[in-house]
Parts: sequence; structure tokens; C-alpha cells
Amino acid sequence: MTKHIFVTGGVVSSIGKGLTSASIGMLLEARGLRVRMQKLDPYINVDPGTMSPYQHGEVYVLDDGSETDLDLGHYERFTEGPLTRDSNYTTGQIYLSVIEKERKGQFLGKTVQVIPHITDEIKSVIRKVGEQDVDVVITEIGGTVGDIESLPFLEAIRQYPLIAGQENCLYIHLTLVPYLKAAGELKTKPTQHSVGQLRQIGIQPDILICRCEQPISRDERDKIALFCNLQSQAVVEERDKDFSIYEVPLSLVSNGLDELIVKRLGLSASTPNLEPYNEILHRLRNPKHEISIAVVGKYAEHKDAYKSIYESLDHAGIHHHAQIRIGRIQSADIENEGPECLLSGYDGILVPGGFGERGVEGKVQAIRFAREKGIPFFGICLGMQCAVIEFGRNVVGLARAHSTEFEKDTEHPVICLLDEQREITHMGGTMRLGSQPAKLAEGSRSLETYGRDDITERHRHRYEFNNVYRQQFQANGMTFSGTSPDGALVEIVEIAEHPWFVAVQFHPEFKSKPTKAHPLFAGFVQAAIDRRSRRQKNTHETAPQTA
Ligand code: GLN
Repeated sequence: MTKHIFVTGGVVSSIGKGLTSASIGMLLEARGLRVRMQKLDPYINVDPGTMSPYQHGEVYVLDDGSETDLDLGHYERFTEGPLTRDSNYTTGQIYLSVIEKERKGQFLGKTVQVIPHITDEIKSVIRKVGEQDVDVVITEIGGTVGDIESLPFLEAIRQYPLIAGQENCLYIHLTLVPYLKAAGELKTKPTQHSVGQLRQIGIQPDILICRCEQPISRDERDKIALFCNLQSQAVVEERDKDFSIYEVPLSLVSNGLDELIVKRLGLSASTPNLEPYNEILHRLRNPKHEISIAVVGKYAEHKDAYKSIYESLDHAGIHHHAQIRIGRIQSADIENEGPECLLSGYDGILVPGGFGERGVEGKVQAIRFAREKGIPFFGICLGMQCAVIEFGRNVVGLARAHSTEFEKDTEHPVICLLDEQREITHMGGTMRLGSQPAKLAEGSRSLETYGRDDITERHRHRYEFNNVYRQQFQANGMTFSGTSPDGALVEIVEIAEHPWFVAVQFHPEFKSKPTKAHPLFAGFVQAAIDRRSRRQKNTHETAPQTA
């Protein structure tokens, strides 16, 4: 019988439910259990694919092409269980499906209602994941308890034990226990209220995880337990970790969370193997190199807009025992202040993906700077397209080269719409999405970096390199080192004459893990380390100030 863990959040948003859920998944896998993660998001958008990064941070793309919440990135980085379209549902998807059934007459003339029809639909998407060959399904409910829009999801998980059995379900509530400086004490009232609200809905949490800045004393824990109708040992502290997110699962183990879960659900599990995570922390605490990487993006000020990119750089740092300082640079600022002023001193420059014209010229300038100064450069998706525009304009001599995304009638459309995209007019799920194979060229840096010539990587784009220009670019020193297996679509471009200039049409950041850095990120960071040590030998230059 599959066991179900439901994770809810209280008091405030951004409390770290995604990371905590992923950590629980990781700990259960480390104890030999087969785990599947799932996120239910109460917003009405059908998926986050059409939302602005300001609203929602990055859109995380899965192998099957689904555009999902960025918490699924935490899940994939921390756990091994595969994620699919069924791993992320929104209110919009649930209603869409119920309304489609109603239109087909599947409700046989009944009045279609939130209870039971919407809640049944929610239960069915949870059950679907539980029907796989797994021991535990962890379902995280987005939003904060008390939100009107999350009510149907909470009602559905309240009902869930009625079909799965009380003994097979566990409710974990993540809450905030703030420290009031003026009073000099931790405050438990918000937690009491949040649990009170859950209990009104009919959910008594089995375990309370308390996010806090200061340690929770025995007395405070007893008090929370009494008011929230729990045993004291079911109140688990999760103190803020300033150093690294990889401390979170380890601290949850020291506070007994995995043991508690295993006991409550009657799971037979081995003792956890935490060696890989101890090793990660050891490497982070004892770096052998220090480098700085500039990430030049349209939304650089937003810490979640390029979440997986930042994480992947960290993974490469862990791989090479390197501490990486990341400078988040707004591409529009480069247009105003110039690349020299903002990018000098960095050991590597990365231009991530994006949509829309704002800041594109800044990215092009950043890439020119990297190319001309021999600074390791890594372009991703729009970053690759900008690299092609830059090379077209400044090396091939096509002064007005551009992408038709930004200049419809450009004289030299070096980047243009994919054939399959030309007819599409509606939004959402209409791009070239998900895992696609590519073959790598003999003698290329990409082949050397991957160590194999056939790869699969995830995509999310509408535009591509315009093959009309292939020969001209090649003649001027750009290598097309990765293409679709039939050779038709350009997937990777390189400049052989440069210390490390690789740009890819896909998103390698969705396949990097802390325990297994993505080869391209590892290669890029190695090139940045090499540049730093060369410079250190030559000069006494100091690292730039980074945010
Ligand atoms: N806007 C570009 C396209 O649609 C790049 C997309 C991206 O960077 N994800 O092709």
C-alpha cells in the first residue's frame, strides 16, 4: 500500500515548503524507499508557462515537456524519482479537466460542484501518482493555509485518508516561529492560529516543522505541542541555514524528522546514507578555488528568475571544490554603463534564456566583451541566439543581423521562427518543449566535455538558428558542434579559437544535480578556474564585488 505525505504551509509564503518537501523526499530515498514528489498549485493559470518571471520565478521544464513550478527543480535536484506531467497540477488544470468532462456529459446531468467533483478530480491526480510502483508519495500544497483558493486542495487531502486509510496518510505542516527582537523571545501564536485554521478544515497535522531563526527551547516546544494538539516530539525545529541549502536535510535528520515519519507510517526503512550530502558540505566548507561568474539577464535582480542556473553553477563549484561568487547583472544596465564597467574582473560570463526585447542589446554587448577578451562564455537558449547575433554582426559582417523575435523584417534574420511555430497563435505549451536528442561533432569542445556524442537535453523555445547562414558563419570561425540527429536544427555553437565559448539552444540547467554537476556547467567553471589562476599568476587583480 502506497503511503501519502501531505505538506502544507502556514503563516507566511516563501517559507521553504519546496525545499523542505524535497529534503523529506531525499531523506526517505536515502533510507532506501521509492519516493514520488508532487506539487498542487492553487493558482488558476493552467501552468506557469505564461506567467512573468516577476510573478513566478523560473518556469521549470520536465523531460516530457511540461512547464512546471520551480519547486519541481528542488525535487529533481534532491531526489531520483522521475517527474512527469502528473507531478504538478494547478487549479486551472483541475477545473479545465472537470469542465471538459461536463461538456462531454460525463456527469450525467448532475449539478457539478466543488465538493465532490473538484475534490474528486484532485484526489484522482494524487491517486494516479500513488498507483506507480512506489512506497511514498509526497504531495506539497502550494500557497498558505488560510488562502481562499487553496481550500479545495485542503478539503481533498482531508478526504484522502477515507480512500487510502488513516494509517497510510501523514500531514506535515510547515510553519514560522518568528523571533521578536523587542520582546527578546520566539512567538508561537502565528503557529497556533495556522494549525487552528487547519483543524477547522478537519486536518490535524501529525508533524509540525517550525522554521525559526533562533533555537526553540524545550518549554516552547511543549507549549506549541499542547496548543496544536500534538506530542512534543512531533514538533520539529528547522532553523534558518545561512551557509547552504544542503544543510537543511542534514539538520532535519539531527532533529529526528525522518525517524518520526518512518515510525508514524510504519515504513520498513534502512538507516539513511547521508554520505553524499556530508561530502557536498565538506567541499563547500573547504574550497580550493575561488572564482566569480557574471550572469547577465533581463531579470537579474529577481533571485528566482534563473534559479536552476544559479543552482547548476553551485553544483559545478561543488564538483571542482570551488567557491563561486555570482554577480547578477541586469542586461539593460550594460546598455547604459558598458560591459567594461560591469563585467571586468569576472572569470566567466553566462547569458541565460529569456523572452522579449528588453536588454537584448546589453546581452549582445556582454557576449562581444567575452569573445574579444577571451573570457569563458556560456550562452543558454536566448543566450545562444544572442551569441549568434553578435557573431553575425561583428565577425561575419552582417551589420543588421538580428532575431525575427525582436525585428520582424530584419535584413539578416540569423535567428528565425521554427517551421512548426509559424501557425501558432494561442499561448501556453506551444513551444518546442522537453527532451530532444542531439548529436555532437567530432573534435568539438562539447563532445570532449560530455564524453559522448549522443545527448538528450530539455528545450523551451520558438526560434532557432537560420540555416541559410550556416556556411558563412562556419567560414568565419563558428563551429556548429551540436545538431538534431538529422542535422536540421542547430543545438550548440562554439568558437574553437576562444578559451571556452559554448552556447546551447537547450537548457542544461534542468539536468544538473548537487551530486552530479552537468558536464557543460562543470566545463565552463573549469575554464573560469583556469582563467583565474592564469590571471593570478600574471597580476594581483582582485575579485569584483558581487551580489
Ligand atoms: N525567446 C527565445 C525563443 O523563443 C528564447 C527562449 C528561451 O531562452 N527559453 O526561441
